[in-house]
Amino acid sequence: PHAAAAAAAAAAAKDEVGESSAEEAEAAPPHPPSAAPEPAAAPSGAEHKRFSFGPFVGLAGRAQCCSVLCTCESSGDVSQHGILRCSCCQATLCGMCAAHVQLESHTMLPLHPEGGRFGADAAAGDGDGATPEEFEGSLRRAMPDALQLEEPLAGSGIGTELFRLLRVDRDRDAVRIKYVSHGGEGAAPVATLSVAFGRMGAAGVGITATLYDLSGGKRGLLPPAARLVLRGGGGGGTSNADEWEVCEERAATLSFEPEHGDVSSSYRSEMGLLDFKEEVVANKIHVGSSDTQAASLVGGTYVRQRCRGTTVFGALWKREAAGGSEAMWLFVNPDVDRTGPDHLVFGTTPTYRDGRAFHVAELRLRPNQPVLEWLHALGQAALTDG
Ligand SMILES: [Zn+2]
Ligand SMILES: [Zn+2]
Ligand SMILES: [Zn+2]
Repeated sequence: PHAAAAAAAAAAAKDEVGESSAEEAEAAPPHPPSAAPEPAAAPSGAEHKRFSFGPFVGLAGRAQCCSVLCTCESSGDVSQHGILRCSCCQATLCGMCAAHVQLESHTMLPLHPEGGRFGADAAAGDGDGATPEEFEGSLRRAMPDALQLEEPLAGSGIGTELFRLLRVDRDRDAVRIKYVSHGGEGAAPVATLSVAFGRMGAAGVGITATLYDLSGGKRGLLPPAARLVLRGGGGGGTSNADEWEVCEERAATLSFEPEHGDVSSSYRSEMGLLDFKEEVVANKIHVGSSDTQAASLVGGTYVRQRCRGTTVFGALWKREAAGGSEAMWLFVNPDVDRTGPDHLVFGTTPTYRDGRAFHVAELRLRPNQPVLEWLHALGQAALTDG
């Protein structure tokens, strides 16, 4: 009995983050704080000319450096020690805190081989963002206080709104700028735009902009309406037009076949729970689909990763990049307020913390089948089948 699941494979995204953006938007003032002079970096000559993020992708490297990179760092505090990052799950810690944590399941490497919390950036000394405060300041100056997207998004009817800058947040792995759009004078927000500068998946840095459409008046979990992914390259920006991807939900059925005889201890077994002492999960999972689009998106062989403590239920499988298809991960996206079920998700990043803009498909398991039970069944199939 091979486990099967229905998956919704979307063009781009699906799942959690919406709850925060919706609430944040509701907390937004009806009018922004008084506008600063038109920033020099904004397209010239205009009341709110259409805006492109491409030219600013070069800021992403420094944004990653200035983001929160250790549990001992808060939005205002910075560790004095160099940063280590797991090349697999992308978790980061400073050298001091790393000494107190079990890290043998991770592959920790220095973020800056040259050493120090900010590496070579610290020596730059050009006042252009060596410290988080300076960087937030320079990002604020570079970004307009009000913007419209370059083009309305195809077929979505969104993107024509005027967005106003709400705030800049120094977050984990990224510095985020939040914009909000109101329908009219004093009206409720109709859209939010969250723009993350920093780490992008497991390969480098870039800008990820995620647009949420609040005009439907729905509350709670909101899927992204569209996303823009700009990879940072050699440090410069790009003058190409921003290519926004509108998220479209579509359903497909996926098959999951475990590699027979290749299993490892489950999360509950590793935790020492006696009832689950013998429980195993599949080390290798072959994912397929008769739906061509779904198969090309998420099909292939996924291998369980060693990282523990940073992943939910120690559940992290990776499909290596090959033949034009990018690396893909299968992991558990937890229900953040613990009121709904956790979800298994395919994403182009190894961590759920990067948000729904990176989710490619979310598994819809059968009703009343929790994720752990589904993984257990797949592990059993690896033992008994074949
Ligand atoms: Zn750096
Ligand atoms: Zn790791
Ligand atoms: Zn630390």
